Amino acid sequence: MLSVILPAYNEEKMISRAAERISQILGGAGIPYELVFVNDGSKDRTWEEIEKAAARDPNVTGVCFSRNFGKEAAMFAGLADAAGDCCAVMDCDLQHPPETLVEMYRLWEQGYEVIEGVKHTRGKESVMHRASAGLFYKIISRAVRIDMSRASDFKLLDRRAVDALLAIPERNTFFRALSSWIGFRTASVEFDVQERTEGQSKWSTWSLIQYAVKNIVSFSTVPMQCVTVAGAFVFLFAVVLGIQSLVRYFSGHAVEGFTTVILLILIIGSVIMISLGIIGYYIAKIYEEVKGRPRYLISRRLGHKKPDAGGKE
Ligand code: UDP
Ligand code: MG
Repeated sequence: MLSVILPAYNEEKMISRAAERISQILGGAGIPYELVFVNDGSKDRTWEEIEKAAARDPNVTGVCFSRNFGKEAAMFAGLADAAGDCCAVMDCDLQHPPETLVEMYRLWEQGYEVIEGVKHTRGKESVMHRASAGLFYKIISRAVRIDMSRASDFKLLDRRAVDALLAIPERNTFFRALSSWIGFRTASVEFDVQERTEGQSKWSTWSLIQYAVKNIVSFSTVPMQCVTVAGAFVFLFAVVLGIQSLVRYFSGHAVEGFTTVILLILIIGSVIMISLGIIGYYIAKIYEEVKGRPRYLISRRLGHKKPDAGGKE
């Protein structure tokens, strides 16, 4: 059986539409399936819509978070709750075309364990967005050592890969990169990102920046090495300036002016502060991991076979 995991945050208009489209396509292809909707603390009627869809279609199940925990948590909750031999994760705004699921499933039948959805085209985006996304993926690709420039969260995973992902204890997960990091027999399928028909994207520029910083830090320690490099530069500068000042002192012309002193204090001060900030960010992340709080809390669920799954892991 194929479990399709659909994280949903304020998607009341899309639930029934997504359930119908996906059922139609998977049913038509003769693939046994279940749809696992994860309501990520929506503020609208998303959960009621999921309940309605479940009443109409016995293949639909759902879990409801106690508040908004974010898409990463929602995807992991769905994976933890899914009963299928393989699990697919896709957006419930239908920006990931459900037809591609069939193609992915056929590859899974051929023995592939991780089937990645790769963006053929990125859909409508502003130039700024495209450029910053490009930079972000360049950094991440270097950290993971896999090309991530066209990666998406649209994937189909074999049970073995799902269990490997669920066994990872870290809280600051980055699904898109972790699914490559775990390895396994991998194939990819290209798809075109569709237009969103209802509602709006949950991403603001600021939340995208936070997302980028968080995930770079969770996969790479390069920013901390930058602190060392910056320190080395400042040291070189100090040696040159120090020698120059001493030569001038002994030759009888002491360095004139207060300006030099102020400039030095400002430059060194800001380098130190920025470095502390970078190190502080890593410490904050360590603190979050050490506290070991659950990734998400489930308040309600629909017709499930695994009543004690989720929440605690
Ligand atoms: N989503 C979620 N929790 C959040 C934000 C988004 O579960 O906090 C879901 C959302 O319902 C959708 C998917 O993640 O199914 C992708 O979100 P969105 O369409 O806003 O992102 P975009 O397609 O613009 O990258
Ligand atoms: Mg979307």
